[in-house]
Order: sequence, then C-alpha cells, then structure tokens
Amino acid sequence: MILQGKTAVVTGGTRGIGLAVVKGFLDTGAAAVSVWGSRQETVDKALAELREAYPNAKLSGKCPALNDAAAVAQAMDEVAAGFGRIDILVNNAGISQSTKLNDYDPADFAKILDLNVAGVFNCTQAAVRHMKEQGGGVVLNTSSMVSIYGQPGGCGYPASKFAVNGLTKSLARELGPFNIRVNAVAPGITRTDMVAALPKEMIQPLINAIPLRRVGEPEDVANAFLYLASDMASYVTGAVLSVDGAAMT
Ligand code: NAD
Repeated sequence: MILQGKTAVVTGGTRGIGLAVVKGFLDTGAAAVSVWGSRQETVDKALAELREAYPNAKLSGKCPALNDAAAVAQAMDEVAAGFGRIDILVNNAGISQSTKLNDYDPADFAKILDLNVAGVFNCTQAAVRHMKEQGGGVVLNTSSMVSIYGQPGGCGYPASKFAVNGLTKSLARELGPFNIRVNAVAPGITRTDMVAALPKEMIQPLINAIPLRRVGEPEDVANAFLYLASDMASYVTGAVLSVDGAAMT
C-alpha cells in the first residue's frame, strides 16, 4: 500500500485520466481524496461511483473555477480543514484544441492558457501553503507528449503544456528545500472520452506509428502518478515522465 493514509486533491478527477488516478490512489491506501471537476453534477456522479466502490474512504468534491485564485484558495482551505492535511495535489484538469492558426480565436487561446496554466498555478499556490506548514508534500501535473514535440495545429494546447513543464521544473527547484516534490506525467494518446470520440480512420494511423501499437489506457497513465506520488519516488523531482509507448521517438 504505497499511499497508505495519504490525502490528495485531484483536479479533473471526474473522468478519464483523473478518475483513474483517484481510483489508483484509493486502491493503494489513500485515506482521503477530494475530486475536483468543472460542474457539480459530474463531481456528484463520480463521488457516487467512488463511494460505492470505496465505502471506507473519506471523499469530497469541489468545483471552483480554477482560474479564480480566491475561489481555489477557499476550496483548498476547506479540503485541508476536512482532511487535516494535503499530502498530494494532482493538477490534471485540462482542455485541448486543434484549430489551425488562421482560424484560431484569440479568446480560445486565452481560455486554454487560463485553465491549463493559470489553473495549475492557482491550485499549486493554494496547496503549497498547507504543504509548507505540514512539512512537505507532492505536486503532480498532467502534461502531454505534445509538451515535448509540439503538434501541427491547435498551438495553444502544446504551448500550455510546455508551460506546465516550465512550472514543474521551476517549482521543483523552489520547493525542494521545503520537502515538496514537483513532477509531471506526459501522456501520449490515451483512451478517454476525448480520444474515444475520434473516428477509426483518424486514430488507426496514429496507433500504427506507436511502437507499442496501442493507445494508452487511463490506468497506464495513473500508474505513473502512483509511483511519483509515493515514497518510491522520494528522490525524484523536476521530472517530466513520458507515458506514451514511445509514440514520437
Ligand atoms: P477528459 O476530457 O476525459 O477529462 C478532463 C477533466 O478535466 C474532467 O474531469 C473535467 O471535469 C476537467 N475539466 C475540464 N474543463 C474544466 C474546467 N474548465 N474547470 C475545471 N475542470 C475542468 O480528459 P483526459 O483525457 O482525462 O485529460 C486529462 C488531462 O490529461 C488533461 O490535462 C489533458 O490535457 C491530459 N492529456 C490527455 C491525453 C489524452 O490523450 N487523453 C494526452 C495527453 C495529455
């Protein structure tokens, strides 16, 4: 039980990769997890499923606007008060887009950076206040394969994930002296709602180019979070761990 007794906040924890991370944390001993999402209904739906599967776990749900620092700080303070401490923060909520530059609405560019970058900043700042007080913690960010290679379209998304890597590496340096580790996981194509909706003609050529010849499952990605959240990664900080089947190498 590598996360025995730990408490965690997972943003974007209602489905896909984030929900797999929540389940992975609970499967490996976490005592309390706060599931954050964009809407109360989706948070409630995820909580109902989790309460049935993990009747002994302490669970809560929140949906602050992640670009609103004050709302995030209030939600984080409530979680810390309810759980007693915040050992692990997973900044996983994110949106993507594939619009080409000519057609790119500047408002959409700002929206992506607002959630994928400012959201990570706000949640980290709010959680780290508690982690410093309690003597340490772990911050994990969901980056992407495109944070290394870019992508031919939707430039706001890879730009946001390059920024996530920048936050990861910089905050690892700043917060190491406070016993706070900061790492990122960079998934390749992962079977979530977003990818399941793509037509087979589009997805198959992408799969053919992946050395492992399959897309990732949310659990493949969640396992990397489990490792990085645990003491098994006690000397790992500032890393961006690729979980992509060597898709682009
Ligand atoms: P998903 O769309 O299945 O889930 C996204 C989650 O983010 C949901 O829980 C949703 O509630 C939350 N969210 C969305 N907009 C939000 C908002 N405005 N405020 C608060 N929460 C919001 O996506 P996923 O595929 O599980 O992606 C999770 C993370 O993984 C994202 O950061 C994404 O960029 C990254 N990622 C996904 C893939 C992939 O192929 N699926 C690949 C690389 C990286």
